[in-house]
Amino acid sequence: MADPTDKMENIINLCKRRGFVFPSSDIYGGFNGFFDYGPLGVELKNNIKQAWWQDFVHRRDDIVGLDSSIIHHPTTWKASGHIENFTDPLVDCKESKMRYRADQLFFAPVRVAGETIGYISVLEDETMSAKAEEMANEMKRKLAKQGALEPLTLKDYTEAKPEEHALIPSPATGKPGSLTPPRSFNMMFQTYVGAMQDASATAYLRPETAQGIFINFKNVVDTGRVKLPFGIAQIGKAFRNEINPRNFIFRSREFEQMEIEYFIAPSADWQTAHQGWIEGCLAWFESIGIPRAKLSLYPHPTEKLAHYSKGTTDIMFEFPFGVQELQGVAARGDFDLTQHSDVSGTKLDWFDEAAKARFIPHVIEPSVGVDRVFLALLTTAYHEDEVEGEKRIVLRLPARVAPFKAAVFPLLKNKPALVERAEALYRRLKKRLNVFYDESGNIGRRYRRQDEIGTPFGITIDFDTIEKDAGVTVRNRDTLEQVRMTEDEVVRFLDEQVNG
Ligand code: ATP
Repeated sequence: MADPTDKMENIINLCKRRGFVFPSSDIYGGFNGFFDYGPLGVELKNNIKQAWWQDFVHRRDDIVGLDSSIIHHPTTWKASGHIENFTDPLVDCKESKMRYRADQLFFAPVRVAGETIGYISVLEDETMSAKAEEMANEMKRKLAKQGALEPLTLKDYTEAKPEEHALIPSPATGKPGSLTPPRSFNMMFQTYVGAMQDASATAYLRPETAQGIFINFKNVVDTGRVKLPFGIAQIGKAFRNEINPRNFIFRSREFEQMEIEYFIAPSADWQTAHQGWIEGCLAWFESIGIPRAKLSLYPHPTEKLAHYSKGTTDIMFEFPFGVQELQGVAARGDFDLTQHSDVSGTKLDWFDEAAKARFIPHVIEPSVGVDRVFLALLTTAYHEDEVEGEKRIVLRLPARVAPFKAAVFPLLKNKPALVERAEALYRRLKKRLNVFYDESGNIGRRYRRQDEIGTPFGITIDFDTIEKDAGVTVRNRDTLEQVRMTEDEVVRFLDEQVNG
């Protein structure tokens, strides 16, 4: 379990075996960058989205929801800058036909005693420095060079000088000469709308949900429910033709985002608002079971920000394959509303009654991927331990997000009185919550089947339940403690555990 690759393998296996996540189009051999969520996965995913919506929309007074279409008027993407700038640098290996993102392909000249003896290349990951060191030593040994190896300086391929392109080996073949110079690759998926298949009919699958919010700003303001500062929240699919989808559902080509555009007055202190959102998002992650210790902040260096951006901080999570972005919290100024106002000719502004002034609000944008939250929860929850001398896999998912909130078991399946009582409780609970019923196999095995899919409570109907009216036992997945309670108490107990 110590090896992070094993942990990811174990989680991917569990996801397939128990019906959380399948490779898309499995019967046709899968389709790279796409995934299907199975019967348990769709529950976990819906619970994440529901918790987010409850906490950021229903439980607040200043945020309203939206569900815009996935395909917008194509001019949207011209105004937003996506047609020109939503690109990744792509590099091809002409020999192997492999494609890489140039900013994920690292290289270094190998220098021994002042002489460059060749180049090495590695793909970005946690171990790339160690791998590069090993390759450089290997090259020195093969070429029988004497003297000290100089420390390697790894740079990404976008920083390579034109004369270096032919010298850097392809990660696929290990030999130089086959890598192309980097070129810009637009990540938006194109489609045609209507019967014509020409440039006039080109449209795009949205690469983010955010623009749907900006282009509806006026509609939402005109319906009159909001007062500045306020936010518009949206959950929905986004599509990016990622060059290199990887790390399971972490980077895929079709995923789901939960985004808020939070509008503030231009005179408001954006730094305080930005910081408030960062802290609010950290607190939310903790509340759904992602520990603070695995989260960290990455403020983007000012020189790498887009010209309009005032500041962006990523909330990073310690995934088994490294510390990676879970959420971005960006302060985007008035860029988006100004662009859409200018290009559409429709004023997207706010009239401040008190100051009798019109202005374009500024915006703070917390944006998070549902699939990445799903993966962060699974990697946090996944444990292997031992119960009664047997190895068990357990997902320690909090009750609020767990696919099933409880499982109901009659102690024995061949005793009709036990079965009847268990089924009655199951039906009663099922009206309120997603619960599971299982009567097959010994009770220990039934517990373990539920532990593996994260069901927090096991409710057993035994002879004391029916003969002495002594209530049912409720077993806690994590502490293994068993307490007796009446069926009425179980209903209240589960409601509290799930809804707080
Ligand atoms: P990255 O640097 O990882 O490509 P990004 O900075 O391009 O991400 P944003 O455009 O800020 O990402 O998107 C907001 C959020 O959407 C990300 O924090 C992430 O949770 C999610 N997201 C972005 N791209 C993907 C993807 N290809 N697969 C899954 N989730 C994604």
